[in-house]
Amino acid sequence: MTKSADTGRYRPVDLRTVEAAPQWALLEEELRTAIQVVGEVLPFRTNRYVMDQLINWSNVPHDPIFQLVFPQREMLGDEDYAAVERALRAGDQERLAAEVSRIRMSLNPHPAGQLTHNVPELDGRKLAGLQHKYRETLLFFPAPGQTCHAYCTYCFRWAQFVGLQDIKFQTNETDDLLDYLRTHRDITDVLFTGGDPMIMRTKMLRRYIEPLLSPEFDHVQNIRIGTKAVAYWPQRFVSDADADDCLRLFEEMTAAGRHVAIMGHYSHPVELEPDVSREAVRRIRQTGAQIRMQAPLIKHVNDNPAAWAALWRTGVRLGLVPYYMFVERDTGARNYFEVPLVRCYKIFKEAYSNVSGLARSVRGPSMSAFPGKVRILGVMRLRDMMDYNMLDIVRESAGFDLLGEPDKQFLICDFIQARDPRWVKKPFLAEFDEGASWFDELRPAFGRDRFYFEESDAEEQSRPLLELTEMLLD
Ligand SMILES: *Cc1c(COP(=O)(O)O)cnc(C)c1O
Ligand code: SF4
Repeated sequence: MTKSADTGRYRPVDLRTVEAAPQWALLEEELRTAIQVVGEVLPFRTNRYVMDQLINWSNVPHDPIFQLVFPQREMLGDEDYAAVERALRAGDQERLAAEVSRIRMSLNPHPAGQLTHNVPELDGRKLAGLQHKYRETLLFFPAPGQTCHAYCTYCFRWAQFVGLQDIKFQTNETDDLLDYLRTHRDITDVLFTGGDPMIMRTKMLRRYIEPLLSPEFDHVQNIRIGTKAVAYWPQRFVSDADADDCLRLFEEMTAAGRHVAIMGHYSHPVELEPDVSREAVRRIRQTGAQIRMQAPLIKHVNDNPAAWAALWRTGVRLGLVPYYMFVERDTGARNYFEVPLVRCYKIFKEAYSNVSGLARSVRGPSMSAFPGKVRILGVMRLRDMMDYNMLDIVRESAGFDLLGEPDKQFLICDFIQARDPRWVKKPFLAEFDEGASWFDELRPAFGRDRFYFEESDAEEQSRPLLELTEMLLD
């Protein structure tokens, strides 16, 4: 692998072009078949930069970036795999399409009420392309930004955009955004997201962003751009024909008094190794923009503390700010990628305790669940939580005899973000569950049937246990 700056042209690689890539010949027959079969179902796109500079082909199939962008045999169940393979071998296109569509539907492409909730309205009209879940921050999905320089195999976001035919600049979309912001002056952050908004040419990006810089939208202090281009195609900021223009746009945003926050999706420290990726960081930071790092924790890709610690350490040295470690949501090839919550917490804890305080700006592991961003704060035994006197208090208030189980464990959780801002940073307890890998598998502690935030009168009820937990943690 060379680490020199690749100033080449962006060349996507997909199912149809992968065979022409020089690395194809290095792959065992079995891996090639798996890519061709699974690639029919899951999104497959990578590019020559990712293949040449980020993947270590002597470590395939275990290489983390190979796992991140190439379809893998075990991502499908045996029967589904066999069905697709049969249709493919028989050259039966109709059959193939039917199987693919059936399997895709079974993979829960739209988790957590993504499409139905948090879509704001203006004068009774639903505003597609906007999502307003947390008071301060408005998500904006510009239509032409709904694809990426390479696809992460665990991601099903592309599924939302099937059927979005017109991917040109949409004036009405910007009008909706501006109208909504005019009437919502408590929004301080607009987050451009996708897909990847940096897939847009600067000219187009500019048409979305420039209107926000007028004094009328002064309440929009922070303009965030969620992107994986910093990892998958850093040339976007270095050598693409409009790279300089892009940096000028960032400078103009900064000059207009806005904070430009690049929410960089970095999955693995190798993404920060090539010279061109560091050059991208340097150039972006020179505009006054800040780059934050965030990514989900994915089995086979970054499910080890050393990778995260190295990522945060290198990031901080280059001037990036570690921000979130996410738990992967319940969609796509979930069985292949999922890491149980307790394990996520342990990985986070070990990585976090091995980096400088400058890297401890990171928060996680965090699940973007329906009520909000739920964080696993820790695992605690009753014995560690309180002395036996206090267990007595718990027994009285909860009505359970816990004294016999001083080694009973709980998960302590809280909200980093919540639908109701009053829930933020309010710790709550869930039953310890080593196998749970998503929020909906967690059960409230002490045999309760609901978490406090699931009660209709969540705030009014007296919650002795909750107060006790808070008291202990404050
Ligand atoms: C994460 C997220 C945000 C941004 O939250 P911050 O904690 O401010 O980074 C906004 N909207 C949604 C729906 C989110 O999931
Ligand atoms: S870059 Fe982001 S939107 Fe694109 S495939 Fe990866 S996770 Fe999904």
